[in-house]
This record gives sequence, C-alpha cells and structure tokens, in this order.
Amino acid sequence: MTRIFNFSAGPATLPEQVIEQIADELLEYKQSGVSIMEMGHRRPEYLEVVTHAERDLRDLLAVPDNYKVLFLPGGARVQFAMLPMNLFGKSAKADYVLTGFWGETAYHEAQKYGDIAIAASSKQDDYLTIPSRESWQIRDDAAYLHYTDNETLTGIEFHDIPSSVPVPLVTDMTSSLLTKPMDISQFGVVYAGAQKNAGIAGLGIVIIREDLLEQALPIVPSVYDYKFEAEQQSLYSTPPTFAWYVSGLVFAWLKANGGIEGFYQRNCQRSQALYDIIDASDFYLNTIPKSVRSRANVTFQFKQENLEALF
Ligand code: PMP
Repeated sequence: MTRIFNFSAGPATLPEQVIEQIADELLEYKQSGVSIMEMGHRRPEYLEVVTHAERDLRDLLAVPDNYKVLFLPGGARVQFAMLPMNLFGKSAKADYVLTGFWGETAYHEAQKYGDIAIAASSKQDDYLTIPSRESWQIRDDAAYLHYTDNETLTGIEFHDIPSSVPVPLVTDMTSSLLTKPMDISQFGVVYAGAQKNAGIAGLGIVIIREDLLEQALPIVPSVYDYKFEAEQQSLYSTPPTFAWYVSGLVFAWLKANGGIEGFYQRNCQRSQALYDIIDASDFYLNTIPKSVRSRANVTFQFKQENLEALF
C-alpha cells in the first residue's frame, strides 16, 4: 500500500494513526457486538464517544463554560444559512467582511434572510489583501459581524482576531479550526465543517456563546435550531454518527501529540518551508502579502511566462 502526500484542502488527510484505529475498531466497537457505524446514537457506548469528543474539543480550544458546542449534520455551507436564521430574531441585520470566495458565498446566502451589508471588502484587490480594521463599517444594530478566518482558495488568513468589534463576532474557521490557539471568548460564534482539520465530511461544528441562543427566527428548522440542539446535546435527529466518532478520534490524537500550541508551531514551520520554496522558485508564484499568508493552507499559482512556455 502506498499512501501519497495528499495536499487536498478537504476532505483532507487524516492522521494515519486515526485511520488505523478506525480499522481496528470497525468490525466491533469495544466489545459492543456491533460496528460503530451500526450503533444506536443513544446507546451508552455512543454517548461516551460524543461526550469525550466534546470534552476534548473544549480542552483543545479552551472553550469557556458559557459556550455551547454543537455537532450538526452537514458542512459549513449549511451554517451560512443557519447563522442568520438563528441570530436574526432581534435584528435581521448583519455585516460581512469579504476577503474571498467563501466570505462572499456566506454573504449571498445570508441575504435571503435579512438586511446584509458589506462592512469591508478586498474585492477591488482581487481578494489578495485584508481590509484594515479601521476601514470596517459596522452597524450598531447588526446582529453580528461575519468574517472568514482563513480563505481557503486564496490562502489568506487573519493572524489576529479583529479588535473592538461592537457586535457579536462570527467567524468561519472551516480551514483553520484547530490549527492555532484562538481566544474563543472574543467570539459570538465560531463554526467549521469538520472535513479539513477536525475529521471527515458530514459534520459541522458550531461553538456559540449562550446568550446568543435566544434570538432564532421561528422558521429555523428544529434540527438546526442552535438552542434546541444545545438542549438535545446535538442528538435530536440521528447525527452523522460515524463522522462524529472520527472527529473524536482526531481530537484525542491532537491532544496526545502536542495540543493546539504544538500544532500551531508545526503549521508555522511547515507553511514557511513551503512558502520559501515557492518564493525561491522560477516556476511557482504566491502574490499574497506575507502578513496575511495562510499558515493553515498554502496556495500557489504558476508564473505566466512558464505557463506560456508550456502551452
Ligand atoms: N468555508 C470555507 C472557508 C471553506 O474552505 C469551505 C469548503 N472548502 C466551506 C466554507 C464550505 O464548506 P462545506 O463544503 O462543508 O459546506
């Protein structure tokens, strides 16, 4: 068997030890007589899996006690719609900072549910920069301000949490969750699809401050009602049981192998090594300013003259 170096953004590489553990446990999960794939989601063995998964994620990110952690079906695009549905009960307004394709997509989805404004955008720079915090226009009555922590396609990352945001801060960390320490207390909501750094496809992770659980629109589907799902321990509908189990294994592996600080150091070294090669190359190119280059995922283009020579 040859496992290749898989640089795909997502679904992305899983730790080999996690895959081996899955293989070991697949036919029968811990003398339960069934595979984890066949196990009822309310069985004590499964409840133990999800309890450990939440505890480990909370430990890894130091999630404060006044935050709920939800594990919901589907990926990040589901949350593009569920955020406004869950947060627009008091004010159906939200402001979005656009730094690339994913922020723009989240912004368009939210427009179906209320009055959405662009607080700042780097579109005029082909999304190759991050607008300075001073330029952001945030409305006092916005239900939240949304930004994309790491724009996966271009490889642009916020290296600091935006400061002095007067409304709840919401961020899409689909490609950067668990890659660096984050002060969760600075946020109203942090969300991510699991398939990049936190497991496999099919699961969305939402970390939400408790006081924001009171402002859902009546139309929000029960299965995505953040307050209701918090009360139900994310078990109202049959959850993506296998995906949640895999996330639990990934969290345990991260904890056992250096925790978030350790992985952050490795991500810095690994991304720098790749950027050094790209910057020294005659063939590859990265035009993102160094101050906002992603440490979570490295992108590159081909130099125009090389492309012309090829075709
Ligand atoms: N946000 C970001 C930053 C992403 O990278 C992606 C997927 N590449 C998405 C959202 C969409 O995620 P999903 O496919 O889970 O809906």
